[in-house]
Formats: sequence, structure tokens, C-alpha cells
Amino acid sequence: MDALSGAHIAAWIERAADVMEREKALLTELDAAIGDSDHGVNMARGFTAVRSRLGGLDHGDVGALLKGVGMILLSTVGGASGPLYGTLFRDAGQRAAGAAALDLAALAGCLEAGLDGVKRRGKASPGDKTMVDALSPAVDALKAALSAPAPTGGPARSPLMDGLARAAEAAQAGALATVPLIARKGRASYLGERSAGHQDPGATSCSLLLRSLAATAGV
Ligand code: ADP
Ligand code: MG
Ligand code: MG
Repeated sequence: MDALSGAHIAAWIERAADVMEREKALLTELDAAIGDSDHGVNMARGFTAVRSRLGGLDHGDVGALLKGVGMILLSTVGGASGPLYGTLFRDAGQRAAGAAALDLAALAGCLEAGLDGVKRRGKASPGDKTMVDALSPAVDALKAALSAPAPTGGPARSPLMDGLARAAEAAQAGALATVPLIARKGRASYLGERSAGHQDPGATSCSLLLRSLAATAGV
């Protein structure tokens, strides 16, 4: 697969809704340790709402589709993560406006725009123990895949699939690397040093989202 069409983005959302439902208990458990135990419910509710309203969105324009996803997340998920994930999809969609499909370069640009939006809205930097710790390395991995494609001889993958595999791995590593960090943003920051020793729920859901996207592309 060389590019993600609207149909692929819709398939991603369907898969993400299943994954968030399946991992609801894990996300809730992580949020129970350093937050208020609602991250699993928030994510499952948001992606289930998007899935049920996919039919009303324009699948011919990937930008409009992603933006529509963002607007539904903004209106259905409360707390910190709703506005932040809403901004991620909305700003990614704005960057992709009018595109019928996204190749690796377009996807990298679009997720970078989403990351910039999340950072602008939440004021978090890498290392603050938030979803940025999974998203930022994923964007870096997509950009690295663009400038340094996988050497031949590895698995036979398109540049897009190679980039998505590397992004999903980077996001997972980023989520795991939040364990020792002291939270500097969001509810977990109220705990100060007691937030160390726990994996950040939002970084974990972000890793699940990127894993779902890679799986949608057949990686
Ligand atoms: P709430 O904390 O309002 O209950 P959630 O539990 O749904 O919302 O989401 C918590 C997650 O949101 C955190 O684990 C963290 O990854 C993310 N988060 C919180 N504040 C910020 C922020 N300012 N910037 C980026 N991500 C944040
Ligand atoms: Mg919470
Ligand atoms: Mg909450």
C-alpha cells in the first residue's frame, strides 16, 4: 500500500474504536494510578461516536474526513484528552485539505501539523509525561523514513508501510519511556514525584492509535 485513502482512514477509525473498547480496562487502570480513572471510557466513547458518524463524513477528501473526526472527538470526549485528540485530528485534516489520499510525505506533514496543534493547545513538550511522548517520536520516525528509507533486503514494504511500522514502534517505545518520568502537565502533574513509576495513559492510547493505523495499512 502506497497511500491512505478516505476508505483507509475510515477503516483506521473502525479499528481504533474496537481497540479502545478492547483496551478500555488497561487505559482506565493506567489513569487510576495517576489520574481519575476515566481515560479508557473517554477514548472508547469518543472513537465509538466517530465510528457511528463516519457515514456522514466526506470520504473523498481525506482532509475533510480527518477534520470531521476531530470535530466529533472535540464534541464527545471531555477532560484533557478530548480537546487534545480533537485538535490532533482537526489540525492534521487542515493540513491534508483536498487530498484524495496521503502518501508517506503527506502523512508525515499532516501528523506533524496535528502534533503542533496538540503542543500549542496543551503546552506540553517531550518529557512531560503526556501523549506528546508517543506522538512526537512517531512523527520523527515518519520523517526519518522519508529521508532514510529502509534498506532493501528487509521485509518487502512500501515506503508508507515502512514509515508506519517505524512510527508505531517509536510510539510504543515512547509510551513505555514515560514510566520513570515525573508528570509536568495534566492531572498526573498534581502528584509530582509520585507520578513516576507509572505509564502515561494518553501516551498509551496514542501508541494504540498508531499501531491501529499501521495494522490498517497491512503492517
Ligand atoms: P483527564 O485527565 O481530564 O481525565 P484523560 O484521562 O482522558 O483526561 O486523559 C489524560 C491524558 O491526557 C494524560 O495521560 C496525558 O497523556 C494527556 N494530557 C493531559 N494534559 C495534557 C497536556 N497539557 N498536553 C498533552 N497531553 C496531555
Ligand atoms: Mg482521566
Ligand atoms: Mg477526567
